Amino acid sequence: MTSSPLPHASSLPGFGTTGFVRGEPAAASSLTASQLTSLRGVADLLAHLRLTVLTGAGLSTDSGIPDYRGPNSVPRNPMTYQQFVGDDALRRRYWARNHIGWHHLRRAHPNDGHRALVRMEQRGLLTGLITQNVDRLHSSAGSTKVVDLHGTYDRVVCLSCRTLFSRQDIAGLLERLNPGYLERTGNAGDVAPDADADVDDTSDFMVAPCPVCGGMLKPDFVYFGENVPKDRVDRAYAMVDDAGALLVAGSSLTVMSGLRFVRHAAKQAKPVVIINRGATRGDDFASLKLELGVSESLAYLADALPGATTEEVGPARR
Ligand SMILES: [Zn+2]
Repeated sequence: MTSSPLPHASSLPGFGTTGFVRGEPAAASSLTASQLTSLRGVADLLAHLRLTVLTGAGLSTDSGIPDYRGPNSVPRNPMTYQQFVGDDALRRRYWARNHIGWHHLRRAHPNDGHRALVRMEQRGLLTGLITQNVDRLHSSAGSTKVVDLHGTYDRVVCLSCRTLFSRQDIAGLLERLNPGYLERTGNAGDVAPDADADVDDTSDFMVAPCPVCGGMLKPDFVYFGENVPKDRVDRAYAMVDDAGALLVAGSSLTVMSGLRFVRHAAKQAKPVVIINRGATRGDDFASLKLELGVSESLAYLADALPGATTEEVGPARR
């Protein structure tokens, strides 16, 4: 996504009451007056606090990855772990759809929201990012303090010997086992955030065994019915413990794996801000809830938030 030319921020009316030394951020020009008022409220609440940001599928929709729980999306029933390991036909179908779908994730690019979070990290505003997305777009944008809560699409794990493989290497294996499948199936009509492509002809697809032990391979992300590894959860809790507030961006918090961090922050009496189109399961815990686009909101906040007091940002200029 390219950013359109914007008028100089200081030409915008109505600024100067919030006490920030900076001018109104450039992102403000794409926002309506009431959206700006809401975002200024968020900036005031979060001023001088270090943040943990929890992101979900709503952040990646501007990168062309649909959110299957968003207000306009078609409901899906993602496969459970028990179905994956227990049913050969379902596992074959899963791998066939993933074989198409992962290419789509690989071609996706970070958007303004991902880039805004990189700027926040560089300004010292973040204790870290917890993402429910498996698309790795935070890391490709340049964020370094990321907990990939639900794993990543670009790795595959053997359920027997636990060897990890790159998804690229397994793609080569699958292509040799299923010559011409990609070409025959063509472009997927729809790809979910977990690389599940909308493909129906999967009955003759050959699943690859583990190249090391012959065991069962699984994309290395957390399925429904599966627990997030404990060390990963602990790292995410530690980020929230170190933060002064929690900002949720683009998640409906439908699954407990994300909602628990909202509860954790609220229990510590830390402000919780939720930016998401549509209701979330965390709304009752939120100090502020904004029904706004995630990318433009984060772009605004990355510039509008004053520096955190607990960490100096850059060397002092004299
Ligand atoms: Zn193995």
